[in-house]
Amino acid sequence: MQDRNRKLEKIGIMGGTFDPIHNGHLVIAENAREQYALDQVLFIPTGHSPLKHKQQITSGSHRCAMVSMAIADNPQFVLDEIEVNSPEISYTFHTINKLKKNYISCELFFILGADSLFDFESWRNPDLILESCSILAAYRKHQRQEEFFRHIAYLNEKHPGKFHPLDTPNLEVSSQEIRQRVRHGQTIRYLVPKTVETYIQENKLYID
Ligand code: ATP
Repeated sequence: MQDRNRKLEKIGIMGGTFDPIHNGHLVIAENAREQYALDQVLFIPTGHSPLKHKQQITSGSHRCAMVSMAIADNPQFVLDEIEVNSPEISYTFHTINKLKKNYISCELFFILGADSLFDFESWRNPDLILESCSILAAYRKHQRQEEFFRHIAYLNEKHPGKFHPLDTPNLEVSSQEIRQRVRHGQTIRYLVPKTVETYIQENKLYID
């Protein structure tokens, strides 16, 4: 029998190239989980990204292995390989559509950084994404804070109540910086989990 008192599950979706996953990703996911009482956060590494098609991307299996290690100690974080196993270009609206079928009667929240928020309207079918989920956006330091809040207000005028700011400590780290540091022989300790650092070294990732 269905339990009528069972509360609606809240699922966070953290999409990214994760090449590699770093502490900035983990911090925003964890703060989204706490602030919006999410039951789970799905980490979804991109397959063929429409935005990064010109960039050489590390294989899906390496990126998934690193995500898996990075989230291993958090029972509410889950790796979802829905995009990485697909031969098609991964469009977010498409992924959300598939997730909706697996997470029937769940409330979905898409978690992103401010750089992605500013691009959001240029994504394929943003209206379809917003039909199925709300957006939780974390401020990133290279954007001006007033501009960030102005943009959230602007998007909410068009799509009332769909965009929410995340209040997170600011970890100014990017995957690009990690790759560059590895290439230059600089330390990445404390920027990525220890297991990810070791994996990068053992598999000689990002050295050319
Ligand atoms: P790259 O440097 O290769 O462009 P990235 O560090 O931005 O990568 P992605 O995997 O492309 O990482 O990002 C996934 C999501 O995480 C995006 O929405 C991005 O805005 C967000 N994000 C990444 N790093 C941070 C950070 N330090 N603070 C807040 N959000 C972040």
